[in-house]
Amino acid sequence: MQLKKRYRLEKEKEDGTSPKIRKYWIQRYNLFSRYDQGIKMDEEGWYSVTPEEIAVKHAERCRGKSVIDCFSGVGGNTIQFAKVCSSVIAIDIDPLKVELAINNAMVYGVANRVDFVAGDFIQLAPSLKGDVLFLSPPWGGPMYNKVESYKMNMLQPRDGYSLFQIAQSITPNIIMFLPRNVDLSQVEELAWLSSPPLALEIEENCVGGKLKAITAYFSCTAL
Ligand code: ADP
Repeated sequence: MQLKKRYRLEKEKEDGTSPKIRKYWIQRYNLFSRYDQGIKMDEEGWYSVTPEEIAVKHAERCRGKSVIDCFSGVGGNTIQFAKVCSSVIAIDIDPLKVELAINNAMVYGVANRVDFVAGDFIQLAPSLKGDVLFLSPPWGGPMYNKVESYKMNMLQPRDGYSLFQIAQSITPNIIMFLPRNVDLSQVEELAWLSSPPLALEIEENCVGGKLKAITAYFSCTAL
């Protein structure tokens, strides 16, 4: 075996990375600048965590507000919200993700500023209160960019229209983090189908000059 390849395989073993997630692991410092200080991930976490630079932008828009991170995963967004928001509730249905998110928030010294909840956002929704709802729902794994135009009905655990309706029952200030190939006309539809229609701002999220995702900011007044 070539020396370089053997070194790479040994390094992967050491880091607990598999060839499948190697592409994400290479970008680990884009995901968490404090990666080396004890960040923990599971395989799904690698695919779905928001790059830190983008999470910082999301949080900046919510400075001083109470925020609910409805699909918090391993905590990429939660950590940044905790730094600047008045309060943060972080929800994930998978108790392992919640454990990882707590660990990662501890690495950033903000774990005590977050209420972590292991539960189903859909079920919890009627009891939730907050100024801003952050929705980063499952996109359906890394295959999302295999379609030319990503449709709202591909979002999980419910289609985008239903998720948005549930979110609106809590607050009109909704941030949706969506695939870069999302059908923007459907996103606009969410805003104007609301009663009263909501203001909408679309942000393109780039890392290292590459378009990574789209963020849609909905509000009754500018956030
Ligand atoms: P992606 O498809 O973007 O990779 P994931 O499948 O990793 O997204 O899902 C994002 C996060 O949402 C995961 O941490 C998952 O456990 C969580 N999640 C899925 N369904 C729910 C739900 N109903 N309520 C709260 N969290 C959920």
